[in-house]
Amino acid sequence: MSRLSVVFGGSRGIGRAVAGLLAQRGQRVVVISRNQEAAQATAVALPGAEHVALSCDVSKEQEVQKTFEAIQKNYGTVGYLVNAAGINRDGLLLRTRPDDIASVLHTNLLGSMLTCRAALRSMLGKGGAIVNIGSVVGLKGNAGQCAYSASKAGLEGFTRSLAKEVASRNVRVNLVAPGFIRTDMTAGLQEEVGGGGAQTRIPLGRFGEPEEVAKAVLFLLESPYITGQVLLVDGGLQLAM
Ligand code: NDP
Repeated sequence: MSRLSVVFGGSRGIGRAVAGLLAQRGQRVVVISRNQEAAQATAVALPGAEHVALSCDVSKEQEVQKTFEAIQKNYGTVGYLVNAAGINRDGLLLRTRPDDIASVLHTNLLGSMLTCRAALRSMLGKGGAIVNIGSVVGLKGNAGQCAYSASKAGLEGFTRSLAKEVASRNVRVNLVAPGFIRTDMTAGLQEEVGGGGAQTRIPLGRFGEPEEVAKAVLFLLESPYITGQVLLVDGGLQLAM
């Protein structure tokens, strides 16, 4: 049985674009989000047959554990893992509720750590590749995004550390850090985090498309001699921040 590609946050946006490219490559994809119907709708629209849709909240350890047990039991072992599940709760720190800070950290940082931890059980014997989705604001910071940028900066440190831990077992771990990408997440971007004027600050002069990020994710998944790297896909935004 060939090995699976598991995409958290695969129902929409960047994750859906990644799932699409993987399916085009002939991979069998497991599309995961909290909303089962949305994951199902994405999975059935992918090219190729027998893709899988599952519901799981990445911030909940037991759900993540059960999801990987179900994958292993019913569908096979995991070869690729992509962590594209993420949320934002933007606002200046003084106006952000501690509950919202916790939700962002639990989903974006803890969630990816939990899925990696669970997937490694499948990968350590046979090798594998993981791509986490960070953000340019994890490197540069952004007013109005303290929790979000902290979660993404944390993902970078986590990615490099895990890459060191598992390299000897032929598991590679990399991070793609997008800038502003046209998805549901940026549709309602607040002015104070760069909405409105954001486009004029991007050297390439436009928001990116999910497919443009997906290409970088696929490149890292398929590059057997790259690990512990951070790849910016931001239209040059980091040069202007
Ligand atoms: P979208 O809002 O379009 O999609 C987010 C995806 O994550 C959905 O599939 C959503 O499904 C899923 N998701 C959210 N919370 C959870 C959860 N707790 N458990 C499981 N799945 C969850 O976002 P994008 O595609 O824009 O973002 C994808 C990733 O890229 C995120 O990590 C984001 O931070 C990052 N990113 C995005 C940028 C952008 O400009 N769009 C820029 C930089 C980074 P559901 O709600 O059903 O769970």
